[in-house]
Amino acid sequence: MKPKVAFFDFAGCEGDQLQIANLEEEILDLLGQVEVVSFREVMKEHSDDYDIAFVEGSCTRIQDEERLKQIRKNASVVVAIGSCATIGGINSLKNYQNLDAVKKTVYGEKADLFDTYLARPIDAVISVDAYVHGCPMTKEEFLHVVKSLLLGKKPDIPNYPVCVECKKNENVCAFERGEFCIGPVTRAGCNSCCVNEGTKCWGCRGLVDNPNENSQKEVLIKYGLSVDEAISKFRLYFGWEKKQ
Ligand code: SF4
Ligand code: SF4
Ligand code: SF4
Repeated sequence: MKPKVAFFDFAGCEGDQLQIANLEEEILDLLGQVEVVSFREVMKEHSDDYDIAFVEGSCTRIQDEERLKQIRKNASVVVAIGSCATIGGINSLKNYQNLDAVKKTVYGEKADLFDTYLARPIDAVISVDAYVHGCPMTKEEFLHVVKSLLLGKKPDIPNYPVCVECKKNENVCAFERGEFCIGPVTRAGCNSCCVNEGTKCWGCRGLVDNPNENSQKEVLIKYGLSVDEAISKFRLYFGWEKKQ
């Protein structure tokens, strides 16, 4: 019996589900290993009988909590995919605004018809068994996590900062270019792709575990920053973590 899998979306742009829909030939391998029973973006059928739930998007309304809890009840394994689901992500930018003003900007005169609250990752509401980081997550990491789960193994996700990959790639440090980079405290695994392209790390993969122990302190010290300062200067993706 193949494990049954289902995909769910909350507040987000669906970019992570698109990554899955775009798996091309690898999707055939995947479909040989699992039975997809629900995936709104690519199929009409839906079933509540599933083993693994992949959840994209942040929880941004009180009524999302009930849906998340039902997913948790139905699934043996819950996987958060993409930074909106893993860390709150870009939706958490609103956590620093007046929420009534935010609603008015989005819904205008109909703002009162819509609920909202602080955007949060799904593990602020339910327990999560595995994470696929990034905005969007990469197909490669998604497949790695799925294969690991099917083999009953813990996915091997880096717990060191982006700076490590960035240095291996011999990039000129963004700080040397007069920019601020969140790479010293951000979880690696993307091969420092943004810095490789001439920009900087925006933190989409979330913080390394225990940033005080696992950050690239050498870089922070060189540029006169502490871990807390590095995190507090940046809120593009870390809005929920910073509020905690
Ligand atoms: S993590 Fe990024 S790609 Fe995924 S839903 Fe959120 S904004 Fe979209
Ligand atoms: S601070 Fe940013 S640019 Fe500098 S080494 Fe680290 S990841 Fe690379
Ligand atoms: S460099 Fe930073 S912002 Fe870019 S993909 Fe990696 S973690 Fe995300």
